[in-house]
Amino acid sequence: MLRDVKQEIKNLETRHLRRQLRIVESPSVPIITIEGRRFISMASNNYLGLANHPAVNRAAIEAIERWGVGAGAARLISGTMTPHIQLERDLAQFKQVEAALTFGTGYTTNLGLIPALIDRDGLILADRYCHASLIEACRLAKARLRVFHHNDVEHLEKLLKKRERAWPTLVVTEGVFSMDGDLAPLPDLLTLCRQRDATLVIDDAHGTGVTGKNGRGTVEHFGVNPQDLIQMGTLSKAIGTSGGYVAGPASLKDYLINTAKAFIYTTAQPPAIAAGASVAIRIIQNEPARRERLRNNRNALHAALTGMGFQLTDTQSPILPIIIKAPETALKMSQALYEAGVYVPAIRPPTVPKDSSRLRLTVSSEHTQEQLENVVTALWKIREAFSMKSTSASG
Ligand SMILES: *Cc1c(COP(=O)(O)O)cnc(C)c1O
Repeated sequence: MLRDVKQEIKNLETRHLRRQLRIVESPSVPIITIEGRRFISMASNNYLGLANHPAVNRAAIEAIERWGVGAGAARLISGTMTPHIQLERDLAQFKQVEAALTFGTGYTTNLGLIPALIDRDGLILADRYCHASLIEACRLAKARLRVFHHNDVEHLEKLLKKRERAWPTLVVTEGVFSMDGDLAPLPDLLTLCRQRDATLVIDDAHGTGVTGKNGRGTVEHFGVNPQDLIQMGTLSKAIGTSGGYVAGPASLKDYLINTAKAFIYTTAQPPAIAAGASVAIRIIQNEPARRERLRNNRNALHAALTGMGFQLTDTQSPILPIIIKAPETALKMSQALYEAGVYVPAIRPPTVPKDSSRLRLTVSSEHTQEQLENVVTALWKIREAFSMKSTSASG
């Protein structure tokens, strides 16, 4: 039966779960303009300011002039252009693996990758907090799907012990979790996967460019061997452009080109975006000072928020989620911050579990100290208004 969409929207509204689009009239950090008003932007994954960096912009403009705006065809037909191949080489070098393959978005990368690796005779074990695109990808793969408690290696081991030996097994997690900002225990996960004959896949959407000495991501942060797992990620966060990629063995790339439907049956990423992403990856490697600014900004804001008694997640990244619990309160606080000139989204179910609605602040290397101080001042006033006292940050 067809859904009564008008009624469904009303239902969302009464539960404070209706979402609406906001139209942005400027780049995404550090200041955004909405309806002619300027806000300090704490709502972008543009961690290093590369989405609007002059050199990245220039590379894209020059590529448009040479190759045009659109690729004109799928990658396997005539859509593979020089910038795509250059980007895949750059990604493989950056991630220190044999090969990389790009997709239209991070979302479709997961949809392409997971079902290509496993089918109904297999088992997927996924962290409970995995991104919606990973869960969709697991469903699409038709393998048995079990969810392990967030970052709980013991629970994962229990599930691995229960399995029938013959099942090929994938363990799926994120490097830096998108809604909590904490890191997966990669070394322990890898040890367990090795002992129990499973393959680890990590989605490093939020780790790439941000964590590790050279910004290579969570794998570099923990010093594990990139050859021991399969990585995917997106070009849309720290890399500042658009698209997704798989980084791993050359044979995997070759296989995905031949089998991943989300790669085969879609038009290639615009060549200019690929050209921009290559320059962004170069900047990430050549300008460690950007990552250091990001880290300093993140540490300063994290200290201020915890000092004010806000209840944060166990975050170790520039994602700073303040747990509010009730969606209605999170929404009202987000609106109050908006009035005060600070743009912070309220993240509500189903993006996060029930009773864990939150204000999710993301920090960029481009924020000035003064801007972050203004954010803290605004939060201070709003906390008073919502009378959220130190440890009892309920709502
Ligand atoms: C953002 C994100 C994606 C999707 O990437 P897009 O390029 O935006 O489609 C996938 N996985 C995780 C963990 C993400 O945070």
